Amino acid sequence: MKFAIFGDIHANLEALEAVMADAEQQSCTHFVCIGDIVGYNANPHECLDFVRSLDCPVVKGNHDEEASADTELIGLNPLAEQAMTWTRAHLDAEDKQWLRDLRMVRQVRDFTIVHATLDTPSSWGYITNKFDAMASFSYQYTPVCFFGHTHAPKFYVKSSSVNVHPGLSVDLESGKKYFINVGSVGQPRDGDPRPSYAVYDVSAQRVAIRRIEYDMATAQRKILDAGLPPMLAERLSLGK
Ligand code: ZN
Repeated sequence: MKFAIFGDIHANLEALEAVMADAEQQSCTHFVCIGDIVGYNANPHECLDFVRSLDCPVVKGNHDEEASADTELIGLNPLAEQAMTWTRAHLDAEDKQWLRDLRMVRQVRDFTIVHATLDTPSSWGYITNKFDAMASFSYQYTPVCFFGHTHAPKFYVKSSSVNVHPGLSVDLESGKKYFINVGSVGQPRDGDPRPSYAVYDVSAQRVAIRRIEYDMATAQRKILDAGLPPMLAERLSLGK
């Protein structure tokens, strides 16, 4: 049994389709989404439809929350505010209700999923180093938890202390805990513009991050055609 675990799609349909095609090639039969389906790029409704059609476990991201709220946008930078106003206008009432109904944390089989952190999931804090990861580990009751939010894949491993596991895959050992950032499908920010997601091979007890090519030019053209900030198209090429 293989799970494809993906998130931070951010309305990038071309990247989502490429990830799903790769997951199929990798013989993934189960899918799990760790949130931020919408925001930034040009196909929020289409990405939402795609994820809904998978009928898989999904948790809520901060952009899913913001896009489905009626509240005034406060505290966002002008770029984010412009993109969020556009996103809200391109989701229908049913899309927004579906996003509102998402849960913050879920257990799937023997692992947990959350968008940002396990200690305070609705505060949307960022885990960028092993010290940040420690707080989440205190609230992790399964051996493995998958998360996103920083848009940079990373493996945090807890044995007697917390460390970062280098490389693109990890063999799970019993007695240890794993807090795994699967990276971003639609807006990678680790300097590598290729979409990122994780394949969890349950029988082999192995988690591997996959980076794949996609039709970025089309995604960028759609952003410009939609009248979204051109900077959002540029950053896709830069991977940040
Ligand atoms: Zn995100």
